[in-house]
Amino acid sequence: MDRRQFLRRSSLLAAGAALPFTNLLGRASGNFTELRRNVGYFTERGGTIGWLASENAMAVIDSQFPETARNCLNGLRDKSDHPLDLLINTHHHGDHTSGNPIFKGMAETMTGHENVPKLMKKANEESDEGEPNTAYPTTTYADSWQMDLGDEKLHAKYYGRGHTSGDSVIYFEKANVVHMGDLVFNRMNPYTDRPAGASIMNWIKILETVASEYPLDAVYIFGHGKPEYGVTGSKEDLEVMRDYLSAIIEYVQQGVDKGLSKKEITDKKVLDGFENFLYADFWTLPDNLGVAYEEVTQS
Ligand SMILES: [Zn+2]
Repeated sequence: MDRRQFLRRSSLLAAGAALPFTNLLGRASGNFTELRRNVGYFTERGGTIGWLASENAMAVIDSQFPETARNCLNGLRDKSDHPLDLLINTHHHGDHTSGNPIFKGMAETMTGHENVPKLMKKANEESDEGEPNTAYPTTTYADSWQMDLGDEKLHAKYYGRGHTSGDSVIYFEKANVVHMGDLVFNRMNPYTDRPAGASIMNWIKILETVASEYPLDAVYIFGHGKPEYGVTGSKEDLEVMRDYLSAIIEYVQQGVDKGLSKKEITDKKVLDGFENFLYADFWTLPDNLGVAYEEVTQS
């Protein structure tokens, strides 16, 4: 894919146009699901929003798109009158940050990994479509960050390069709920943003670490999910994602060891054992095999 095609594809992604992995069952006003202790998730279009809405605290994790961010906010207002304390962006992609302008000026704190504003600025520079989104996180961190909010405690942690080079894992400690952002595409071929610093090899390690670091009974929220599997799950679902990424690296490594070309290696529609995964047209298994090839051969 040449640069023009790439930029076109990136801007489509930033705009969230025709993304097949958005929530297929989303309704006009979105869907709210409570998990534990006033913490839940909202789905409509784009990456799953995590929320905390109690008498004395309100927070959102990610912002989808302006119209769905508004719907989310309206729904949260039915749960609590408390002002919005906090917005965290799990990473910079447009389907997680395009609603930021709706929350800006309202959220007392806007947080993200330190690479998120940089990657949002870069995406603005590379896209010639629509208004640039300049509602960047203003409170950034390098390794970890935490905040007491009402009777909940929130943690954000960076585990290194994964889906991008700015992915936060967000932990609601009291509720024992973990928002994974796009580090988990539940039973789906994930988008791997190598120009934004993604690393499949390190992503595997992240899933390994996260699955062992949080309590066994933690509930996980995923950025995207195949409809029949949904956007929440357990440690076991992280392990399925890890196994898929491992299978990608292993397949590519075997091809490289046999002396096959990049073209021969990436000409593969489905991996054995993962036939059930949903594939998006805009980002396919061959795309991920290509990224893995670049990593394995360091090309
Ligand atoms: Zn993403």
